[in-house]
Amino acid sequence: MARVRDLVIVLGDQLDHSSAAFDGFDAAQDVVWMAEVSGESTHVLSHKVRIAFFLTAMRHFAAEVRERNYPLEYRRLDASDNRGELGLELRAAIDKFKPQRVVVVEPGEQRVEVMVKGVANAAGVTLEIRADRHFYCSRQEFAAWAEGRKQLRMEFFYREMRKKSGILMERSGPAAGEWNFDTDNRKSFGKSGPGLLLSAPLQFAPDAITCEVIELVKRRFPKHPGSLDHFDFPVTAANARVALDDFIKHRLPEFGAFQDAMWSDEPYLFHSRISGLMNVKLLNPRTVLMAVEDAYRRGEAPIASVEGFVRQILGWREYVRGVYWTYMPKYLGRNALNAQENLPDFYWTGDTDMNCLRQAIGQTLTHGYAHHIQRLMVTGLFALLFGVKPVEVHKWYLAIYWDAVEWVELPNTVGMSQYCDGGLMGSKPYIASGKYISRMSNYCAGCRYKPDEAIG
Ligand SMILES: Cc1cc2nc3c(=O)[nH]c(=O)nc-3n(C[C@H](O)[C@H](O)[C@H](O)COP(=O)(O)OP(=O)(O)OC[C@H]3O[C@@H](n4cnc5c(N)ncnc54)[C@H](O)[C@@H]3O)c2cc1C
Repeated sequence: MARVRDLVIVLGDQLDHSSAAFDGFDAAQDVVWMAEVSGESTHVLSHKVRIAFFLTAMRHFAAEVRERNYPLEYRRLDASDNRGELGLELRAAIDKFKPQRVVVVEPGEQRVEVMVKGVANAAGVTLEIRADRHFYCSRQEFAAWAEGRKQLRMEFFYREMRKKSGILMERSGPAAGEWNFDTDNRKSFGKSGPGLLLSAPLQFAPDAITCEVIELVKRRFPKHPGSLDHFDFPVTAANARVALDDFIKHRLPEFGAFQDAMWSDEPYLFHSRISGLMNVKLLNPRTVLMAVEDAYRRGEAPIASVEGFVRQILGWREYVRGVYWTYMPKYLGRNALNAQENLPDFYWTGDTDMNCLRQAIGQTLTHGYAHHIQRLMVTGLFALLFGVKPVEVHKWYLAIYWDAVEWVELPNTVGMSQYCDGGLMGSKPYIASGKYISRMSNYCAGCRYKPDEAIG
């Protein structure tokens, strides 16, 4: 075999044909490398849906790479000689292809970046790490913004990002004259519930590749939490776009008003269900934000909803990535409130009389999904009040959601939800009593606990 020029790594959360990894790719000299390994599903006890989503998205992306006639070394989890760890597989690929250079886009997780550097170094091969164009704000830009600040207020970062990107901006300032429409949002459904307003997200029936992956996951990870019976996520870039358009048409207009509301047996409500698609890069945030801004400019969605949605992606999503890369690895060890309890077992089963937790955990086990307020103000709030060790809370969140990748999960858990950073991210802990849950949902009706009693 002629010596390979570049071995181009595509990690499971880098499924983007326009990624910098492919800049200058030459099919005559370069090889794309992708690997499924069990270690990525077991370093935290991953939900079956999370494992299946990553694997099937990778296999669909690999098929597209092959259609482009790019040479591809794809290591399947079920290959008899699969070594089970990314580092071991990467080293074997370097030994096999003897590339002049290994190319990778900035990994999303620090553990993986350290591993890639270590393997390349040990193999004596040049490593080129390319900037990740998926994000609006680079790691370096965020670190410069954070420099010297004791507290990092998302609101100020977000306004900078609006100005930089031009999204929802007019010559005179922010669209509709305001940066923030929170007072129009945060409504509950009242007693009648979401009712006829609600249109469920499009379901994507598993195709042959996904069915094969589902069987593989059931076989290889039978003791992992969750069920695969309702797997219906899009797993290709084309279907991710269809899912986005469906959200914009049917749920974006009400998104703002009801983004904090919860309702029994309604997992998605007016949320977009696109986090996982963006996190594995089947969907680019620019595509998403341009499409929602278009809906606003065409008069199809109110500013409060559109701004509220843009804030989540251009604000929170970029901001937590910046926090992660600026403060890791020390961030993982933070425990400002000295929380020392173990995570209650019912987080893995949903078996509790507290109906709010049973609902949020139950839908998580069924779908691998809960929306932000369920994560923050139900499962997160209970762990905070109970005083659970941050590392245990972190491992649960990283394991249990279809969209979980560490750069977004960790700051949300350790910083926003558990206040372990002592106020770097949030001005105060997100603490509430059952009254908040009672106001924002129907969970408390019929629950044996009384939301009016704050203690006892
Ligand atoms: C403890 C905790 C853990 C979390 N872990 C993850 C995680 O592992 N992966 C993940 O993608 N999100 C995580 N989030 C953020 C948020 O809960 C999810 O992004 C959201 O629920 C995904 O559902 P959706 O796509 O329907 O979002 P929508 O409500 O429709 O929001 C639109 C998009 O905005 C972005 N977004 C919204 N809130 C946040 C936020 N706080 N931080 C970053 N991006 C945000 C997401 O990309 C999301 O898809 C976590 C939040 C908390 C409180």
